[in-house]
Amino acid sequence: MANQSIYLDHAAATPLDAEVLGHMMPYLTDQFYNPSASYLAAKTVRRAVEDARARTAKTLGVRPGEIIFTAGATEANNLAIHGVMSKYPGKKLLVSAIEHDSVLEPAKQYKHDVIPVQSDGLVDLAKLESMLTDDVVLVSIMYANNEIGVINTPIRVRKLLAETRKQRIMKGNFTPLYLHVDAAQAPNLLPVMPKSLGVDLLSLNGGKIYGPKQSGALYIAAGTEIVPLIVGGGQEHGMRSGTENVAGIVGFSYALQNAAANYQAEDKRIGQLWKFFVDKLAQTLPHIQVTPVAMGLYSIVHIVIPGEDNERIMMELDEAGIQCAVGSACSASSDEPSHVLKAIGFSDQQAQSSLRFSMGRSTTQSDIERVISTLQKLL
Ligand code: PLP
Repeated sequence: MANQSIYLDHAAATPLDAEVLGHMMPYLTDQFYNPSASYLAAKTVRRAVEDARARTAKTLGVRPGEIIFTAGATEANNLAIHGVMSKYPGKKLLVSAIEHDSVLEPAKQYKHDVIPVQSDGLVDLAKLESMLTDDVVLVSIMYANNEIGVINTPIRVRKLLAETRKQRIMKGNFTPLYLHVDAAQAPNLLPVMPKSLGVDLLSLNGGKIYGPKQSGALYIAAGTEIVPLIVGGGQEHGMRSGTENVAGIVGFSYALQNAAANYQAEDKRIGQLWKFFVDKLAQTLPHIQVTPVAMGLYSIVHIVIPGEDNERIMMELDEAGIQCAVGSACSASSDEPSHVLKAIGFSDQQAQSSLRFSMGRSTTQSDIERVISTLQKLL
């Protein structure tokens, strides 16, 4: 019997949790009503949306009015960037060099600068401090990176921004200084509580946390000045018009709740697999380099196989039933070496020899053993 395939691309997409699907099913079938309609049946559907908002807010430790449901993290990131920057014309935005394209691309439409990262993937805070000119209104730094897994702790950035803002106010400059964090990759293994992280805006994605694709949210701290991207019927407190994706919203709220309930245990379990993976690589294939990040998500093992073409190895692994990634699947449309790897100082050659394995709920030690033995055969 052929071996079952081993899925190691959880940073690109996670399977939909069966229990989450169960919560969604009524809204994909008989509970189809428009939540804005006035009859009783529709009110039940409206209640489902507002219960999902309350559930999401409770999970994040924030107020329901601070949650805007979106169609995934790309939209949440676009809403954060366009929403704040178009409210403050002429002001400046700072984005880190390792942001997802859904932050970097909207940033290009405004006055902006790119904050460099160190070779270990951490944002250079001294450099950031020197870049905080009086016209900066928004800083966007992701929580956990989707390619190399590095974790940039938002609270350290917040402290810097708070100090800068204090000095600005003393000079009579009342321009706000908002912190946006793309947390799309975080909830499975990290705590995501916007208040403790010190963020004003935080993007989340259902499709990475065993919820439905095209579901997600933007947390917007009360008092943040922001304008909508999509206008129309005024849904989502006027911040995101359009008839709500009720099943997606309900599914997202349960997926996030589950992630928050399980992240500590999952971090521990996946941490052991990460160690096993990295140790085995060192013992059996010592020429493979594990990309060293300062502090990383245990779910991601990013490697460089010197002298090898990553596309070829990825396809051979695929034929052997192992699915992994050559770059970030979300920006896999170009042949350009990844901007994240460039930012940490990789040469084009290193980037083109790199692979990402991203583990998840279903990953076991025997999966990793099979990856190692397959790599040994291929190399
Ligand atoms: N931000 C990060 C860190 C991601 O990893 C991704 C997707 O991989 C996104 C944003 C965009 O998510 P989506 O394509 O689901 O909107």
